[in-house]
Amino acid sequence: MQSRIEQLIVKLNELTSCNDFSECKQQFLHELIKVKAEVEKIQFKYERANKEKNILSSLLTRTSIDLKKVTEKLEIRAEELSTLLSTIPAYVYFKDVSLKYVLVNQFFENLVGLKSNEIIGKQVNDIFNGYSNDVYLEKERFVIKSGDAVYNIEEEIERKKSKRWVSTNIAPILNTENQIIGLIGISWDITERKHNEEELRKAKEQAEAGTFAKNEFIASVSHEFRTPMNGILGLSDIMQNTTLTTEQSDLLKGITVSAENLLVLLNDVLDFSVIEAGKMELEFITFNIKKVFDDINLVTKLKANEKSLEFLIQTDENIPDFLIGDPVRLRQIILNLTNNAIKFTEKGRVVLAVKYIRSEDNKAFLRFEVADTGIGIPPKAISSLFQVFSRVKQEKSKLITGTGLGLSICKKLTDMMDGTIGVESVQGKGSLFWFELPFIISDSHGIECQITGEESEEVSYTKLVLLAEDNPINQKIAKYNLQKMGFEIEVVSNGEEAIQSYCKRNYDLIIMDIQMPVMNGYQATKTIRDVERNSARHTPIIALTANAMKGDKELYLEAGMDGYLSKPFTYDSLKSVIKNVLNEDF
Ligand code: ADP
Repeated sequence: MQSRIEQLIVKLNELTSCNDFSECKQQFLHELIKVKAEVEKIQFKYERANKEKNILSSLLTRTSIDLKKVTEKLEIRAEELSTLLSTIPAYVYFKDVSLKYVLVNQFFENLVGLKSNEIIGKQVNDIFNGYSNDVYLEKERFVIKSGDAVYNIEEEIERKKSKRWVSTNIAPILNTENQIIGLIGISWDITERKHNEEELRKAKEQAEAGTFAKNEFIASVSHEFRTPMNGILGLSDIMQNTTLTTEQSDLLKGITVSAENLLVLLNDVLDFSVIEAGKMELEFITFNIKKVFDDINLVTKLKANEKSLEFLIQTDENIPDFLIGDPVRLRQIILNLTNNAIKFTEKGRVVLAVKYIRSEDNKAFLRFEVADTGIGIPPKAISSLFQVFSRVKQEKSKLITGTGLGLSICKKLTDMMDGTIGVESVQGKGSLFWFELPFIISDSHGIECQITGEESEEVSYTKLVLLAEDNPINQKIAKYNLQKMGFEIEVVSNGEEAIQSYCKRNYDLIIMDIQMPVMNGYQATKTIRDVERNSARHTPIIALTANAMKGDKELYLEAGMDGYLSKPFTYDSLKSVIKNVLNEDF
C-alpha cells in the first residue's frame, strides 16, 4: 500500500492546473507536518530506547561483576565445605532417595577402606562387611518419607576386622521446592565413650554391691551385737533385784546406762543401714496414740528427773484416740527429739506438745513439738542439722556423745510418712523441734499393744513352757523372767531338741529362738505345725530373736508362729506378747 506522501507525489506529477497545485501543496504541507511529528516521536522513542539500552548495559556490567563475586564466594564456600568435610572428625555422607551414596568425606572413605568412586552409587550393605542393621535402614527410610531428622542412632559396625561403635544423626536434604532429594548422615566414633560407659556401669554395679554389702554387714553386725547386749541388760536387770550394796547398785546402774546407750547407738546404726538399703517398711496398724504418749512419759520423765528437769506432755483434746499408722516409728521420732532435748538442756524443762492441725479426707494432721530450754543451736548449723552425721560444734558444751544419725533418721522417717520436720532455735535460750504427720482416723479400736507397767507378780497358776534357746546367758534371762511370771520352764538348745520335747510333752507355750545350731527355730516351728496339721493340737509358739529386720516378723508368722519378740526384750514386753498369744491375763 502506498503511503500518503507517495500518493501526493503521484498526484503532483499528474497536475494540470495551478489551482490544483495550490490545493495539492496544502495537502502536501499538512502531510509533511504529520510526518515531522511522527519523526519527532520516533526520535523521542529512539532516545529513550538508547537511554534504556545504556542503563541495561550498565546493569549488565554490574550484574556480571556481582556474578563474578558470587561465583568467587561460591568457590570459597565450596572450598570451605570441602575442607570441612575432609577435616571434620566425623563420617559424613550424602545419599539420594534410593539410599545410595552420592558423596562421602575422607573420614568415611577411611572407615570403609574404599575410595569415594567405589562407594558412590552403592548402599550401606554393599560396603560394610556383614552389615545387617535393618533398624538403621528403617530409620533412613523414615527420614526420606517423613522429612524429619533422627538423632543418636547407636550401632556397632565392623571395620577392618575390628568392631567400632558409632552414633549417627541423619537429616533430610530439600531442594528449593521443598522436595526431599536425599539425606545427609553424620556419624561419630563413640567406641571409647561406650567402653567408658561400660566401665562406669561396672564400677557403679561394684559400688552398689559394695554399698549393699556394707549395709548388710552393718545390719548383721549390729544384729549380732544385740545378742550380747541382751545378755548384759537382762543380767543387769536380774542383778538389780538381788541384794547389793549401794555402791554395787550404783555401779550396776552405770553398766545399765552404758549398755542402754550402746543399744540406742546400735539401733540407730541398724535403722540407718536398713533405711539406706531401702528396706525400711512402715507398719500400717490401728493404735492408741494416748498409749504412745503414756509410754513416752514413763521413759522420758525418769530421764528428765535424773537431770532435775521438768518434763511435760500437752496434748490437744480433740486428737482422736485411735489412728492408723506406725506407732513404733512415731514413738522413735518423739523419743529421739525428747532425748536430744534432755541431753542438751541443763536447766529448765522439756515439753512435748501435740497439736491437732486439721482433718481432711478421714486423715488427721498432727503437729508434734518438742521444746527445751537448753543450749540452742547456732543459726549456721540449722540448715544441715537433719543431714547424716550432723553434729553441731558448741563452744560451751562438753556434750559430744552421739553419732549424728538420730535427726537424719527422724527426717527419713517423717518423709516416709508423708510428713515434714523442722527446728527453730535461739542459741542460749533453747530449741523447738517440730514435725507434722498425717494419720488415718480409725473407726475400729484395732488390736492394741498392751504396754503395761509393773504389776503384781503373784503366781495364780502354773503353765508349762518350753524354751528353745542356744545361748546360755539368754537362756538364763528368759528363764528368770518366765519363772517370775510363774511358768514352769523346760530348756532345750536347738530346734531338733525342741521337736523331740514337743513330741513327749504337751506344752502350754513354746518360746523359740530363731538362730540355733542343728535346726533353726523357723524349721522347727514348720515341723511342729506339720505334725499338728491332722490333730486338734495347737501349741502357741513365740519367736524370740535378735533379728530386727523388717519382714522377719512376717516370715515367722508365716511359718506358723503366733507371736514375735525381738531381743533385747524387757520383762514387760515378754509378758505382753505372752498375754496376747495365750489370750489370757495372768
Ligand atoms: P546425736 O546422736 O549426735 O545427738 P542427732 O542427729 O540426734 O545426733 O543430733 C545432731 C546434733 O544436733 C547434735 O549432736 C546436737 O549438736 C544438735 N542437737 C540436736 N538436738 C538438739 C537440741 N535439742 N538442742 C541443741 N542441740 C541439738
